[in-house]
Amino acid sequence: MNDFDVIIIGSGPGGYVSAIRCAQLGMKTAIIEKYNTLGGTCLNVGCIPSKALLDSSEHFYNAKHNFEEHGIKLSSLKADLKQMVERKNKVVSQTCDGIKYLMNKNKVEVFHATGSLVDSTTIKVTDLEGKEKMLKTKNVILATGSKPNFFPGMEPDKDRIITSTEALNMTEVPKKLLVIGGGVIGLELGSVFNRLGTKVEVVEFADRIIPTMDKTISKELTKVLKKEGFKFHLQHKVQKVTNTGKGVQLIALDKKNKEITFNADYCLVAVGRKPYTDGLGLENVGIKINKRGQIEVNENLQTSVPNIYAIGDVIRGAMLAHKAEEEGVFVAELLAGQKPHINYDLIPGVVYTWPEVAAVGKTEEELKEAGIEIKVGQFPIKALGRARASMDVLGLVKIIADKNTDEVLGVHMIAPRAADLIMEAVVAMEYRASAEDIARICHPHPTYSEAVKEAALDATEKRALHI
Ligand code: FAD
Ligand code: NAD
Repeated sequence: MNDFDVIIIGSGPGGYVSAIRCAQLGMKTAIIEKYNTLGGTCLNVGCIPSKALLDSSEHFYNAKHNFEEHGIKLSSLKADLKQMVERKNKVVSQTCDGIKYLMNKNKVEVFHATGSLVDSTTIKVTDLEGKEKMLKTKNVILATGSKPNFFPGMEPDKDRIITSTEALNMTEVPKKLLVIGGGVIGLELGSVFNRLGTKVEVVEFADRIIPTMDKTISKELTKVLKKEGFKFHLQHKVQKVTNTGKGVQLIALDKKNKEITFNADYCLVAVGRKPYTDGLGLENVGIKINKRGQIEVNENLQTSVPNIYAIGDVIRGAMLAHKAEEEGVFVAELLAGQKPHINYDLIPGVVYTWPEVAAVGKTEEELKEAGIEIKVGQFPIKALGRARASMDVLGLVKIIADKNTDEVLGVHMIAPRAADLIMEAVVAMEYRASAEDIARICHPHPTYSEAVKEAALDATEKRALHI
């Protein structure tokens, strides 16, 4: 006799969303989370706290650099990072409590314990005091997420050589911060400290920042961040980072193989994340992990054991909260006998710098490499009346369409509120819109969304109206 229809291990956005959907579909559902708050990386040490600090630091930056031009004079201004972190902690705890409420509302049983597979239908739960219990279940969903990655020579000591988790809890603004990795975390958390007055230097292995995104956007973001005070050291191979007691020393090889030494107060290691499966008992059921540490799944997100599924950061694909959520819903609906679908080609990606970066679909480089004939439309944010009114004039929108069919294949932007603007492109592409379709849709004036229409006009016969 099973205790549950489904047990979910891990309460991040993959796990908790899946639990809600399973319960909505009438399954007796349990979720196991080894920490005493729900919400996983995203709510506790990821999306939500980083955005809370990004918002606070952005207010400070605007007050310092832009308010006077708007006619707002301040007699004194001080960044209180301790208060910013306290506010961030409140936001986190309110959001995590929200998940507790949702679990209650949907009658999902919550175990604050480590979950470990004993066999395909038995899970051992070990609670925070070490007490063990066995639970029987028909199905299992593994949603154990990820942890920060690092390479030899840059092992975080969580004191001066830190990961995003420690960076989110610093209460003093460092004078100088080295960031290894010019990806999403490096640039978002780098932005927080840069806006508060820290000298931020990024040491990146690739020849550009955000190297997986469209080159035009990467170039534009580099320009914007340099103007704000960031320094970038591209094509640098980190050899060794040392905690010197009062700071850090980083040794890297530049592209000519010359040894360069950097000194700073702290070093943030932000070179990606790795799937987390420690203590999960995968070996007891014969589930193997691949070379990248990911649990292998088929197109139904099913592991090699038919009643065990896996979702989110612990499997292949983008390590994003919204991707994990979609997969959580997918498995729940599959278990209920439905025929769900995820369009992996249309998962939007965002970098919460200011202006924000957002993208969906293919980059120009990917399309060219695939030999697809394309046309490109572009529109600068500074040409918008809305942008001048708000003094947010940096950035551009780029739309790439198939040269022959006009179907939109990729939309890339760096713009104010790009994280929200990108959804127009996602909806359009889901319905396989042409650039002409977007160009003919009436967009409200004055808004940043007009840049999307104008870029579409530019892609179709270069007929943008306002440049
Ligand atoms: P997780 O959120 O990692 O949750 C896994 C949970 O499983 C954890 O709570 C863990 O404690 C638990 N667990 C693990 N093993 C066990 C076990 N054996 N028993 C019980 N519990 C276990 N993504 C975005 O889309 N947008 C953003 O803005 C964004 N910002 C980010 C900022 C930072 C600083 C970081 C680090 C990440 C950010 N991400 C962002 C990525 C996002 O957080 C992850 O993609 C997302 O959390 C993955 O969800 P998940 O459910 O797969 O796993
Ligand atoms: P990332 O993959 O975005 O960036 C890592 C960067 O480090 C890359 O630019 C890479 O070229 C560089 N790098 C790799 N090895 C290096 C080395 N040895 N020396 C120097 N540079 C090196 O990873 P991240 O920024 O750590 O973020 C981890 C994950 O979390 C990402 O997959 C991302 O999807 C997710 N995340 C998302 C958001 C968001 O959606 N806004 C925010 C934060 C994190």
